Amino acid sequence: MVLYKPGQSTRYPSDPVKDGIRFHFLGGGDEVGNVGCIIEDNTGTRLLIDYGLAPTRPPRYPDQSPPITDAIITHSHIDHIGMVPWLTQFNNVKFHGTSLTAAVSEIMWRDTYKVSRIEGYPLAWDKRDLEYALESWITHEYGEWFEVGFWKCRLHQAGHMPGAAMIEIKTPTRTILWSGDLDTRDSPNTYGAKPIDCDILCLEATYGGKEHPNRSEEESRFVASVKEIVQRGGVALVPAFASGRGQDILRILHRDAPHLNVHYDGMGTRLTKKWFDNPQHIRDPETLNKVWKWTKKVSSKSDRKKALQADVIVTTSGMLDGGPALWYLNRLRNDLANGILLTGYQAENSGGRKLLNEGKISIFGNITQIDLKVSQFQLSNHAGHSDLCNFAKKCNPKDMILFHASEESRNVIFSEMREEITIHLPVNGTSIQVNS
Ligand SMILES: [Zn+2]
Repeated sequence: MVLYKPGQSTRYPSDPVKDGIRFHFLGGGDEVGNVGCIIEDNTGTRLLIDYGLAPTRPPRYPDQSPPITDAIITHSHIDHIGMVPWLTQFNNVKFHGTSLTAAVSEIMWRDTYKVSRIEGYPLAWDKRDLEYALESWITHEYGEWFEVGFWKCRLHQAGHMPGAAMIEIKTPTRTILWSGDLDTRDSPNTYGAKPIDCDILCLEATYGGKEHPNRSEEESRFVASVKEIVQRGGVALVPAFASGRGQDILRILHRDAPHLNVHYDGMGTRLTKKWFDNPQHIRDPETLNKVWKWTKKVSSKSDRKKALQADVIVTTSGMLDGGPALWYLNRLRNDLANGILLTGYQAENSGGRKLLNEGKISIFGNITQIDLKVSQFQLSNHAGHSDLCNFAKKCNPKDMILFHASEESRNVIFSEMREEITIHLPVNGTSIQVNS
């Protein structure tokens, strides 16, 4: 696969914006993840928001970005940040984000590079681009105004994970709010997002039409399930994402079951250290500090063997597509006292989805039958349907662009809110014009 021959694959229109504001989705318009959106107006100011990839096999990438001088990155999940190093081909490009997003980006990019080498999938950027990208960050605190061309921008807490940001953009004519990945609820490591008054709201609609179970009840159900496994003499294996979910799980277990012996393995162990360097982004960092001391971190092969005697192992990957989780599963699978607790959505074609649907999973290339009990918990860090709609109403926009969602999810919000707000449903590779 040849990717991104410069100047050949962009579908960005070549004509300047005459009136209003143009939103052009390179990716993430009519899909979840893989986000990239160009915003431009008639002042000639052009901004890219996020530039991710979808970590499927093979990975999917957004369309090629037209030349830019500035990109704002909402958070460090791979579907929002994975392609950012490619942008360094534009001279002196600047990446704006919170200090925590910038700090975590290095771990995410190095891991993406490593995985692409192991799996043999092409990546459009190389190690040199990665090093340039690390030098291209300009970090901002929440609430601090900065300029991009003729616009003023500032970041606000998005509640999705520590350091995640919404973006408020003031153009000469309009105020835009870009939600990023959003959660209005408080979660163990971060506080929920608050609405911001705006003219145009770009809202992620991942959970449009779907409600979450009550968060604290779901946390209790999770802890009860862990205790049940431990009481019957088993080990609870908890696959969890490195950025956010894993640390949430540790805090929940420390709060509700401090007597348990909990081991933590995978990329999250390195990533959490970046959290400690940026405590202003963490809800109650002192408690996280206590949790960290209580957690047994796995950093060697012998630690990993010891972890097999633990009560709970929290590790990556969250969808059982790789990482230490598969190593543990391979060793724990023969003792039926053990159990697997999935802590979130399992994507189509992921290991976790195959395990749920077929009771089988690929471990080091072998399709393996798993007889352990598998449970799933909805500990998502995206707002559910009602929270999304309430948030949108309180932002009081005239126009709303729904992105980062399936067609079904967007349609539910569209039919519910179309009478109050003009709603746009972007399609990747095409532009939406919002006029003054
Ligand atoms: Zn995210």
